[in-house]
Amino acid sequence: MQHATVLHGSATLSRDASLRARAQTVIPGGMWGHMNAAFLPEGYPQFYREARGVHLTDVDGRRFVDLMCAFGPMITGYGDPEVEEAARLQADRMRIANGPGDILVELAEFLVETIAGADWAMFAKNGTDATTACVTIARAGTGRRKILVAKGAYHGSAPWCTPWPGGVIAEDRTHILHFTYNDVASLEAAVDEAGDDLAAIMVSSYKHDVKVDQALPTEAFATAARRLSARSGAALILDDVRAGFRLNLAGSWAGFGVEPDLSAWSKSMGNGHAIAAITGADGLREAAQKVYVTGSFWCEPTAMAASLATLKKLHRGDPVAHMEALGQRLREGIARQADAAGVGVRQSGPVQMPLVLFDGDPDIKKGNLFAATALRHGAFFHPWHNMFLSAAHSEADIDAALAATEPAFAAVAASGS
Ligand code: PMP
Repeated sequence: MQHATVLHGSATLSRDASLRARAQTVIPGGMWGHMNAAFLPEGYPQFYREARGVHLTDVDGRRFVDLMCAFGPMITGYGDPEVEEAARLQADRMRIANGPGDILVELAEFLVETIAGADWAMFAKNGTDATTACVTIARAGTGRRKILVAKGAYHGSAPWCTPWPGGVIAEDRTHILHFTYNDVASLEAAVDEAGDDLAAIMVSSYKHDVKVDQALPTEAFATAARRLSARSGAALILDDVRAGFRLNLAGSWAGFGVEPDLSAWSKSMGNGHAIAAITGADGLREAAQKVYVTGSFWCEPTAMAASLATLKKLHRGDPVAHMEALGQRLREGIARQADAAGVGVRQSGPVQMPLVLFDGDPDIKKGNLFAATALRHGAFFHPWHNMFLSAAHSEADIDAALAATEPAFAAVAASGS
């Protein structure tokens, strides 16, 4: 098919607009999934041409300091030379083969050494692969069916967990029961409801549902989840796909001394290379051996080399403390600006995974105006999804982001909404 030059009146559209128009023809809705820029205010790009360090350049040449880290996968900087070199060296030797490379064992050993409670590891490509495999392994290990998940929590895009109803049949969810995050009584009630058919309790590292205030897990909730799953002979699954390696390098609940039976990882573990992992405790080793989960690219060694380089680099420093310090700087700066502008905001969750919501903003109008204005001033904020800081951000990057939020607060104040 020939691509027509897209014209708007007599002026040629931006490159982004032109690509969007072409995409409408060959891609359903122009874009699928979470990276659809239609969810974002006008002015946000759909297409990018370069990512370096903590900066993104869109196809029209606009450059932004980025606070989204590709929705989490970037953690040591886009195009981190150390990670890319490890991937390149591996790819030069072997990109794919009839079986995995030696790097598979090295990476599994590294995870088992560094993740609290992990006795073994398996690998996949995306977070959904990992959360779904955890569910399958828990069912194989217990011979039971029910999986408890928190209302509103995101665990991936497979029919058992996707938030969108399209194409999902009731039977896909028959054995999924719900509780309220951080509400021990509701968890106990769901455990009772599942009875002797309880296979697993799945929890997010913290409550990071979109469009609502975030919440860290209470210690009471984390320990109750551990106690209740153990008491019922069910697995505790920690979905560390989003927050993994940002809150605690040993696992997001390691600070509570809570060791899950299974953990799902992806996003940041390969600093942009496609990789996911399932780590588990010995109690489910045999079950993990029984299930058939695989994919043509799941053993691809380049992503494993990138992941090992990423994780080793993270372990060399104190990236969590670094991200926390920068997150604190951003949070204080935003609070100061909001105060000065007389605009009420709520900042919630861990500081290194920021979310800024506006008071009296049920339809995210103020949030959209704020984010779109910050974007025009060179900073990529998200109006309703948690953002991500990285080990590559510096104080100067945070200050550049704050320079862009200053006029954004002025715009919200002036809108009077
Ligand atoms: N679990 C959580 C907590 C996530 O945030 C995500 C992705 N946003 C997933 C699972 C699914 O990961 P993926 O999109 O890589 O399949």
